[in-house]
Amino acid sequence: MEKDILIIGGGPSGLSSALHLIKIAPHLSHRILILEKMHYPRPKLCAGGLVADAEIILQRLGLDVSEVPHVDASAAHFEFEGRGIKISVPKSHTIRVIRRNEFDHWLAKKTREAGIEIREGVTVKNIIPDKDGVTVETDQGNFRAQIVVGADGSNGITRRIVLPNTPVYTARVLEVIAPELPHHYDKRGDLGY
Ligand SMILES: Cc1cc2nc3c(=O)[nH]c(=O)nc-3n(C[C@H](O)[C@H](O)[C@H](O)COP(=O)(O)OP(=O)(O)OC[C@H]3O[C@@H](n4cnc5c(N)ncnc54)[C@H](O)[C@@H]3O)c2cc1C
Repeated sequence: MEKDILIIGGGPSGLSSALHLIKIAPHLSHRILILEKMHYPRPKLCAGGLVADAEIILQRLGLDVSEVPHVDASAAHFEFEGRGIKISVPKSHTIRVIRRNEFDHWLAKKTREAGIEIREGVTVKNIIPDKDGVTVETDQGNFRAQIVVGADGSNGITRRIVLPNTPVYTARVLEVIAPELPHHYDKRGDLGY
């Protein structure tokens, strides 16, 4: 299959890249293809805190993130090694917390509604540029494109091909879904990040 623009990864970066491209050039909608290795709604380890900038960017795309189940936090405390800053936005929430499986699924639906094709369950295995374009090898066959956008995460295949000899740093993360805390629990802010 041949497309003008092939986006690897259907997370927020890949989906919003496609939406921004067609905002600038609507005629591109049928010439973009997003390849996503998982199926929505897919799990994603993330605290799900959306800052105001993210909401503004989505609003400019005509999207209302309040459609996604969320909890608003009136303040946020960013801490590192005992130091940090508290942020609060007057008369508004400071951070909106969503679940990434729900948020990414919602954004994928909006992207499809805008006329962009997303193929789920396709894993990119290799990316081979040549003088006429790029061949993208997947577990479902080969794709050709003029432009490839790597939006497959910080340890994705694109990064490993573009920067083959750079070390990959990993960290262990444990996600704990805790019961809701009483409102007065955190005197510094509602959300620790
Ligand atoms: C523990 C933790 C907490 C975080 N908390 C926050 C937070 O509160 N607020 C915040 O703004 N950010 C937070 N982040 C960061 C945030 O999760 C990332 O910045 C964001 O997910 C990056 O989006 P992305 O679209 O670039 O990549 P991703 O969300 O990783 O999406 C990449 C997509 O590419 C797909 N993919 C990967 N490889 C392939 C392949 N070979 N072929 C096809 N598809 C592929 C994946 O399935 C995935 O859907 C957190 C991150 C972590 C680890």
